[in-house]
Amino acid sequence: IDGLVRTFKQAGETLNVLRGASLRVEGGELVALVGPSGAGKSTLLHIAGLLEKADAGEIRVGGKLANALSDAERTALRRQSIGFVYQFHHLLPEFSAVENIVLPQMISGIAKSVARKRAMELLELVGLGARASHRPARLSGGEQQRVAIARALANRPKLLIADEPTGNLDHKTAEDVFAVLANLVRGGDFGALVATHNLDLAARMDRILELRDGVLVQH
Ligand code: ATP
Ligand code: MG
Repeated sequence: IDGLVRTFKQAGETLNVLRGASLRVEGGELVALVGPSGAGKSTLLHIAGLLEKADAGEIRVGGKLANALSDAERTALRRQSIGFVYQFHHLLPEFSAVENIVLPQMISGIAKSVARKRAMELLELVGLGARASHRPARLSGGEQQRVAIARALANRPKLLIADEPTGNLDHKTAEDVFAVLANLVRGGDFGALVATHNLDLAARMDRILELRDGVLVQH
């Protein structure tokens, strides 16, 4: 990401949230994104994840320049290359854990039997092989987040984007979920950009980027 600019206009006021933010995340790298509430972390993640557009700046995913793509091509690149985890799990309540991980693969055109095998492997990796048939309501908060992490990895993304993935969990559960996430990133070929207010967790990532006055400062 190079030189992102994002300005919001609200009730006659101009808010310069991003003023030239640049960053690079390598495969296997776990990068913390910190900064006070309102600094623009979620705005940056939405743009990095190709969900929203910046006013200026370049975004490359796996060497591919996203700026030049049509909306349909951006959507395809996002589905192929990026996984998302949010503060709240956003799992589909009427589907089981395994089905929640099968669905995004089927949307990407993967055969159901192949998708199911991959989903079960991912559930094993996050320690939930025995909970595959449970619906989200029958899982604990930490288990729901581990399923959300598994789902984010379903399509083998190049980049995992997580916005406060442990923000809704108690201290111990946050530690457990973070450990699962860190193991997956460090053992994998994808990178992760994780916004967090938890500075203990940030300190255990590979790098810390702080969003300050619209630019990123590396610690
Ligand atoms: P938090 O830690 O509380 O999640 P954040 O760092 O994620 O904060 P953002 O949600 O990115 O912050 O918001 C940055 C600023 O941009 C805030 O002042 C917010 O009000 C403003 N903002 C975000 N989205 C919009 C929008 N669609 N329209 C107008 N202003 C917006
Ligand atoms: Mg936010």
